[in-house]
Amino acid sequence: SNSITFDGVTKIYNDGTEAVSDVSFSVPNGETATLVGPSGCGKTTTMKMVNALVEPTSGEVSVAGTSLTEYDPIELRRKVGYVIQDIGLFKHMTIEENVGIVPDIIGWDDDRIETRVTELLELVRLGDEVRTKYPPELSGGQQQRVGVARALAAEPDVMLMDEPFGALDPITREQLQDEFRRIQEGLDVTIVFVTHDIDEALKMGDRVAVMRDGELIQYDPPAELLRNP
Ligand code: ADP
Ligand code: ADP
Repeated sequence: SNSITFDGVTKIYNDGTEAVSDVSFSVPNGETATLVGPSGCGKTTTMKMVNALVEPTSGEVSVAGTSLTEYDPIELRRKVGYVIQDIGLFKHMTIEENVGIVPDIIGWDDDRIETRVTELLELVRLGDEVRTKYPPELSGGQQQRVGVARALAAEPDVMLMDEPFGALDPITREQLQDEFRRIQEGLDVTIVFVTHDIDEALKMGDRVAVMRDGELIQYDPPAELLRNP
């Protein structure tokens, strides 16, 4: 079971900023938690503690019941996929190379990577003709699809998504939200999804974590949240 658990987690950066204050919550295996709140409330810091990009000052973050302090960094990179707003696709690499980069790093053989890339491009509804193109030749929406495919490539158990559709026009954004909901149904992956948009949080989350000033002020399924705002 790939649940994610935060137990009394606080993060104080070196300059003294308390970004996250005594936060506890858990995301059951296969569910999506959206983290929502105004800019600076601690969403990104919270999310980055799931893949050890940020280390808690106190408290404990666990994935699949094991504290992150006990994971090997390479194992953690395989286990946790990551999608960010400005994607960070490698411009000098083809789409196929971009999607296959993590499997390549962790040593999958070429045939297995090839099969996986084909499967993923289909999943995110990109035609096979994009394979040999370079990121700047694709639209913003297409690049974001590549970003999703790349994050899923090594079959992660956990996915972190930081405003993944934030840079897109409203129509493309809604289309990708709907498609990602559909993709999620078929995946056995636990997701933490950061957004400052409450509508997106309600739409994408099985549970919504509302943050303010570093604190978790509410953590409920969307229907519950709408009943007790
Ligand atoms: P940690 O405590 O996790 O080691 P640091 O305090 O060393 O983190 O900061 C990590 C990086 O983030 C530094 O390069 C720092 O310049 C940068 N940084 C500092 N303040 C902020 C801020 N308010 N928002 C975003 N990044 C910041
Ligand atoms: P959000 O994702 O909700 O915008 P963040 O987690 O990025 O919030 O930031 C929470 C608080 O921590 C803010 O006050 C921000 O300036 C500060 N912060 C973020 N990263 C760093 C850092 N590396 N060093 C110091 N302060 C930081």
